[in-house]
Amino acid sequence: MRIKPAILILSLSLTLTACSLDEWTNQSEPSEEPPAEEEQDGEGNGTSEEEEDENNEEESEEQHEDANPEAYADELEEKVDEDGLTVIEEPDIKEVVVNKSRKLPEGYEPEDLVTPDVRFPFEEDLPKKYMQPQAAEALENLFAAADEEGMELYATSGYRSYDTQKQIYDNNVAERGQEEADKFSARPGTSEHQTGLAMDVTTPEMEYKLEQSFIDTEEGEWLAEHAHEYGFVIRYLEGTSDITGYEYEPWHLRYVGEDLSTDIHETGGTLEEFFGFHAE
Ligand SMILES: [Zn+2]
Repeated sequence: MRIKPAILILSLSLTLTACSLDEWTNQSEPSEEPPAEEEQDGEGNGTSEEEEDENNEEESEEQHEDANPEAYADELEEKVDEDGLTVIEEPDIKEVVVNKSRKLPEGYEPEDLVTPDVRFPFEEDLPKKYMQPQAAEALENLFAAADEEGMELYATSGYRSYDTQKQIYDNNVAERGQEEADKFSARPGTSEHQTGLAMDVTTPEMEYKLEQSFIDTEEGEWLAEHAHEYGFVIRYLEGTSDITGYEYEPWHLRYVGEDLSTDIHETGGTLEEFFGFHAE
C-alpha cells in the first residue's frame, strides 16, 4: 500500500525547520536491506537474469527490492497511530526514514550513543553531541577530509531524546494550542535527530547559526558536493519541502551509509523519493 494522502497533506502543511524545535517523523525502514548494492545500471539491460525462475518468492522479492527501491514503500506493512502517523517498525536501521508522517516508536532510544571526536562550539558534554557509533565515525572522517581542504566545520546538534522533544512540543501546545504548535513544532517521535543519525553543522562565518545562507560559505558548498562520500546526505534539499515537510537545510547531515548516500546523491533527490515515500 502506498502512503496515504493524509500524510502528504500533513507534510505540506507542516513545513518547518527540522532542526529547531520540531520535527516530525517519517520513517521508513526498508525492510531490511535497502537498495544499496543493486544498482545495476549499466548492465541492467538484457543481461543475465531473466528474473523469472519462477521458483521461489525469495528470489523475486530480492530482485524486486534491488532493482526498484521506490517500490519499498509499497511493501511495508506498518502500523498507523491514532493521529494517522505511521509507526516505524525498524527504528534501528541506518536507512530509517523519519518525518512528519513516519514516527519513531514511543520512547525510542538508539542502542548506543557516543560523542564524535569533532569540533563543537561548546564544551559541555550534552546529549546533542551524541550520535550512533557508525555515524559518529563517519562524521569524524568527514571532518578530517574537510580539515584537509581548509574548511572550518563545527558540529552543533545531533541526538535529541524523545523526552526533550516532548517537552518542547508540550510547551508549545500549552502556549499556543495544538493546531498552532503543529505548524512549527515537531511532535515527539517525529524528529530525525532522535535517531542519533543526524548532525547539524555550521561554521564560524555563520556565527554558528543554522541558516540557509550556509550554502554560500565554502563549508556549505563543500558539504553539498562531498558529504555523500562519507555516508551522509543533505537531508532537506532546496525546493523539496512538499516532499520532506521541511524547508531547505543545507546544514542538516543525515548518515545513511556510503552506498546509499552515493546512490541518493546521484539521483539528486531526497530520501523520501528514493524509497518511494512521496505523494503522487
Ligand atoms: Zn537538523
